[in-house]
Amino acid sequence: MKQLFKAIQAFFLSERGQVVFAVLLLILIPTTMVFNTLSTVQSARQNMDIELQRKAFLAEQVFQSVVGTAVQDQTKLQEYVDNVKSSSEEVWGIDVLKPQGELFTVVASAVPSLVGKDVDDLNAVIAWHRNEAIAYQTISSDKATVNQEILPGDSTRRFWVVVSPIKNSEGKHVALISMKFSSQVVDDLVRGSVTRATVMLIATILVVILLLASNTKLFQYTILFQKLKEVDQMKDEFISIASHELRTPITGIRGYIDMTLDGSFGTIPDKAKEALTTVAKSADRLNVLVEDLLNVSRIEQGRLDLKLSDVEPFAVIQEVITELMPMAQEKNLALTCTSSGPLPVISVNRDRFKQVMVNLVGNGIKYTPKGNVSVQPEVHEGTLRIKVADTGIGMSPKELERLFTKFYRVQNDKTSEISGTGLGLWITKQIVEKMSGGIEVESIEGVGSQFIVTFDTANGRGKTAKKT
Ligand code: ADP
Repeated sequence: MKQLFKAIQAFFLSERGQVVFAVLLLILIPTTMVFNTLSTVQSARQNMDIELQRKAFLAEQVFQSVVGTAVQDQTKLQEYVDNVKSSSEEVWGIDVLKPQGELFTVVASAVPSLVGKDVDDLNAVIAWHRNEAIAYQTISSDKATVNQEILPGDSTRRFWVVVSPIKNSEGKHVALISMKFSSQVVDDLVRGSVTRATVMLIATILVVILLLASNTKLFQYTILFQKLKEVDQMKDEFISIASHELRTPITGIRGYIDMTLDGSFGTIPDKAKEALTTVAKSADRLNVLVEDLLNVSRIEQGRLDLKLSDVEPFAVIQEVITELMPMAQEKNLALTCTSSGPLPVISVNRDRFKQVMVNLVGNGIKYTPKGNVSVQPEVHEGTLRIKVADTGIGMSPKELERLFTKFYRVQNDKTSEISGTGLGLWITKQIVEKMSGGIEVESIEGVGSQFIVTFDTANGRGKTAKKT
């Protein structure tokens, strides 16, 4: 299901998919509109038809009650017929019929020329034999009714025809009355609605076309965005593979340099030693870059090992200080820890926690020309706060804004000589946050910086770290 959804999403984000989507919109919106309008019109038409049918029956009954006894008096009958015909526009025809053998003869009619003519009409026969009124719809004015009137130039009008027996005082049918009611009002209304719907439809299609035209850029950006994501993924894979492949030769180079400097291959002149030491430093820098890149790809692909365990932070801090002491001493910096004893355990990944501390203390040493770097752990309300403070070059508020962004390095006179990748702090923040910790920074340009890492001491136990 998820895969199907992904496939559909991928299709709609492809160029062909966008075209299909646009065409679908073009078809769907107007079709829905037309369907909606037509069904509304249709149901209105049905309601109005039912109303007309009801009216037709009613009019018929009224006519019957008036005609009643006058059925034998043909002149009077004709008078009634003429009166009713002229009283309403909806009444298109009235015929009074009397049975004559198999057929019916018109004895009074709204069309005088029809009087005396025989009519062969099935509906009349049915109404006569059932001795009850029947109503039916017809679209032609000349065929489906006993009324033979032909409407000039319009043979497709719709009518309701009611054929009903006229009964004497004993309830016996003596004649038939056939009345024809025009549906013209209804049809005119429907026609008007359909015309309006057509205009709306054309307008909607135009609006949709304009919308799609103006959104082509948006579609293009969506496609571009998708492509960028793919390129980004390819870049991640490339970095991951390239870093892995670089690691082995760098280790080899570093190993042989060390062996050469150790004298494993015999004594070498001082000049060569100096040159090799420079090569070793470059190899170390390359190694840092490769390690950083590997970490970035591990984090981004969610492959970073983050199994948590209870870790005693003081031991790790001491290890870091011992390891980085030569680097600090080389610059004549004091590297200290303000705590002298064990700290409460925290639930972290030991190696990753050490990496965080190495990054922060390492940066402190790197960006401090003189003075000191100190690690100041303290416990406050169930939280362990480890402050790494230095008396270094510091940073301006503007420089702090993008500090934890990937590849960001402060560019100024003081940093230009210091090598780095701009990845250390991004990696540090990612690791800390994935282990449910927090990181903050405070810095004053020319005075120094302090990075504060916080971890929960009370309820951090037994948790599994989140993966990306
Ligand atoms: P790198 O040190 O490899 O350049 P980082 O991500 O570790 O990358 O640091 C990003 C930038 O933040 C550094 O380039 C540096 O300008 C600044 N920075 C980090 N730590 C400190 C610090 N302790 N004092 C002053 N600036 C620092």
